[in-house]
Amino acid sequence: MSKDKQRAIDPFVLAERGQSRCLRIQVSELKRLSSLVRHSQGAIEANLKFGVDEQGIRYIAGTIKGEVAVQCQRCMEDMPLVLDVDVSVAIVRTDEQANRVPEGYEPCIVDRETLSLFDLVEDELILSLPDIAKHPEGVCSSVLPSEAELTSQSPGRENPFAVLADLKLAK
Ligand SMILES: [Zn+2]
Repeated sequence: MSKDKQRAIDPFVLAERGQSRCLRIQVSELKRLSSLVRHSQGAIEANLKFGVDEQGIRYIAGTIKGEVAVQCQRCMEDMPLVLDVDVSVAIVRTDEQANRVPEGYEPCIVDRETLSLFDLVEDELILSLPDIAKHPEGVCSSVLPSEAELTSQSPGRENPFAVLADLKLAK
């Protein structure tokens, strides 16, 4: 059996049976993810549990872990990025069912016989990538003392709307 066949599963059957799947995928095999990162060495490990919750929702839950390198948008050097994604997906057949998925689940429409776990893992990883990657302060080679002081006063996340405002101004 080819690797792809092993990764194409019927998620509804696995959910009914309460099964688990562990996958180890080379980052280089994930073409879409590879195109978004600087290095595609290393492996991704996914541990996924299938089941049916008390509301009757067929779900896939678990973790996807690995490490890639991305470009720091401040100093333009490579930076390691640890990927640690919690998966909580509700598998459904139709758009209508997807709209009714309760909070805490991300709907995944499976309109064919099988679902590629490979694609699911890759989609989750791509969604987890930061829009703008930056080294932590103190590590980034281009952080000036004044900038480090400024950022240390606001340790929270950057306001995404500030980025949007910059983009609008740049037009
Ligand atoms: Zn940097």
